[in-house]
Amino acid sequence: MAELRREPITRMWVVITADHPKGPSDYLPFKPPYQPQAATGVCPFCPGNEAMTPKETFSLRGEGGGWSVRVVPNKFPFFHIEGDFDRRPEGMYDVMEAIGAHEIAVESPDHHQNLATLEPSQIQKILFAYRERLIDLERDRRFQQFLILKNYPGIFNRHPHSHIMAMPVIPRRIDEEIWGVLDYYQRKERCIFCDIIKEETSVKRRVVLETSHFLTFSPFASRYPFETWIIPKVHSSDFHSIQEEEMEDLSIVMQSLFLRYYKLLSDPPYSLTFHTSPVQSRFHRPEYHWHIEIRLRIGLREGFEWGTGFFVNPTPPEAAALYLREVE
Ligand SMILES: [Zn+2]
Ligand SMILES: [Zn+2]
Ligand SMILES: [Zn+2]
Repeated sequence: MAELRREPITRMWVVITADHPKGPSDYLPFKPPYQPQAATGVCPFCPGNEAMTPKETFSLRGEGGGWSVRVVPNKFPFFHIEGDFDRRPEGMYDVMEAIGAHEIAVESPDHHQNLATLEPSQIQKILFAYRERLIDLERDRRFQQFLILKNYPGIFNRHPHSHIMAMPVIPRRIDEEIWGVLDYYQRKERCIFCDIIKEETSVKRRVVLETSHFLTFSPFASRYPFETWIIPKVHSSDFHSIQEEEMEDLSIVMQSLFLRYYKLLSDPPYSLTFHTSPVQSRFHRPEYHWHIEIRLRIGLREGFEWGTGFFVNPTPPEAAALYLREVE
């Protein structure tokens, strides 16, 4: 038996299969390429090798002068900061310079840490670095959208790090969410994310964790096994307007969630992204509700997705939430 569930924001259909629901053990063990990185060469993100990276845009330093979090421009950026914002036709097509910022947040001086093993106080520092960089980047009027993205383990370097990007266009995923938010707003005069929070906290079956400022849950139409969203309980469109107290709460939530993944699925590979409203007054959407989405990179059926645009998820979100709640 399978169920077609519609994700209420983007209205994308997802196939949730429940005949043989897959639990954590069905995904283990992971096959290569998920292997610990061989010790080759020198890590540019380790303390002592600062000269190997471009000049830092931000750092947090303690009494002794050593850094705890460092942000540097990416040496191999998707977007580059210099140049003019110029959209031009090429025959029947549209082309534009990939103007933007692409920075790397080095999340810890320790090469062997990850979000499951870092102290919440260190995760709070990472969140602080994200916020400070976005506040600074917002002053550049060419940028319309920020994206914070983390792949674990890192593809080129296993030192804990994440990407901070500022883009000259609004990416499709965010755009689809904005359309969903505005359409719902027009019909109901309420925020769809706020309504989802109400629904999930009353139904409870998909809730993983609830703290004073954040709800962590498996979304109704989860596209991926053990997909999880973290969302601020009070409406807010921009991640970078987050307050100290909320950052403290969020750091505890993140550490707890990634420790649960670590224990339940034996240190799984994952991707994590922050979705936040576009910036600049022309594009800013106060109706939008910022959030974090996390997907594990396990059990993919990309052929079907590629062929149909449907995702198939063999771990129903109610089961995923239960596993994540109860893991010891
Ligand atoms: Zn390192
Ligand atoms: Zn809201
Ligand atoms: Zn989103």
